[in-house]
Amino acid sequence: MPLNVHPDIAALSPYVPGKPIEELQREMGLARVIKLASNENPLGPSPKALAAIGEGAATLHRYPDGGAFRLREALAGRWKVTPDHVILGNGSDEILGLLARTFLAPGDEAVMADHTFVIYKMEVMAAHGKAVTVPLTQWRHDLPAMADAITARTRLLFVCNPNNPTGTMVSADEVGRLMARVPEHVIVVFDEAYFEYVRSAAFPESMAYVTRGRNVIVLRTFSKIYGLAGLRIGYGVTTPEITDYLNRVRPPFNANSIAQRAALAALSDDEHVARSRAVNAAGMEQVGQGLRALGFAPIPSEANFIYVDIGRDGRQVFEALLRQGIIVRHIEGRMIRVTIGQAEENQAFLTALARVLQAG
Ligand SMILES: *Cc1c(COP(=O)(O)O)cnc(C)c1O
Repeated sequence: MPLNVHPDIAALSPYVPGKPIEELQREMGLARVIKLASNENPLGPSPKALAAIGEGAATLHRYPDGGAFRLREALAGRWKVTPDHVILGNGSDEILGLLARTFLAPGDEAVMADHTFVIYKMEVMAAHGKAVTVPLTQWRHDLPAMADAITARTRLLFVCNPNNPTGTMVSADEVGRLMARVPEHVIVVFDEAYFEYVRSAAFPESMAYVTRGRNVIVLRTFSKIYGLAGLRIGYGVTTPEITDYLNRVRPPFNANSIAQRAALAALSDDEHVARSRAVNAAGMEQVGQGLRALGFAPIPSEANFIYVDIGRDGRQVFEALLRQGIIVRHIEGRMIRVTIGQAEENQAFLTALARVLQAG
């Protein structure tokens, strides 16, 4: 019998993640592989989180605290809100899915950039919504054009800040002008997965819109600077009304017990965060300069990755780098995205890239 699949679902393609290290080792018989593909923390997890993970093993026969009392309280304290403003996800990815399923009826619209985190479109389509994409201008979100794209059917508007894959940001002033134009029936999603890496003083304080009662959700994650991508834990800070609706759709044990413990410990590990920021800032200089020395013009980034026009077919460069044991990300056309690693990893990437270019 033919499957009866809704055309919105049939139109989706599976998300293509960064290639796992072990997969490349298997395929190419390489001993050493450097992965600069998924914006992971090259220093590894917070040591405090690792200790907490060990301690959590003994109670794995119990279900997690579905309300995640301790972690939500800690996050609320950190962001000066009450715990009913905080929702956890199995990665912040899951919260994107919850938002789509909770707030989109079939045919409702979600406004997003045309060149941004691909999960937005996936989740909107899976919820039978309509993704309305707005071109970037000079690799940045065009917030006035995004405001223009709002209609009576719009329910969600995604601002990825800094943007993945470009690394660019929009400023507090720009966001202020956007928020002045967003009507109440639209929830603005500020996806700030790279927040802790941002160095610009002009970065918006998006949480202030939440505390002022605007229909806004700020998404953060433990996958990036905290180094816990494998555990799958992220969070949203939003109004108690929005958390209440999201909680009706959220699977009860979506944040597992080890992840809750590890995140709580990582949140207080200021030293690991500071070291990670410093390593990233130095690596950003190193890779930026290295790319410029090779004749490229990398796009200035506020995150932990660099987006660059590599001047020739990006897929071929990506594949040639794979053969040298370096995993980056080919995004489209001539564009590749490289995550900032530790100094020797960055150097290995630059050396391999120079070799690839020389080989033609
Ligand atoms: C990495 C990333 C996330 C976080 O994903 P998790 O599910 O928390 O691991 C969210 N948004 C963007 C733009 C990202 O790059």
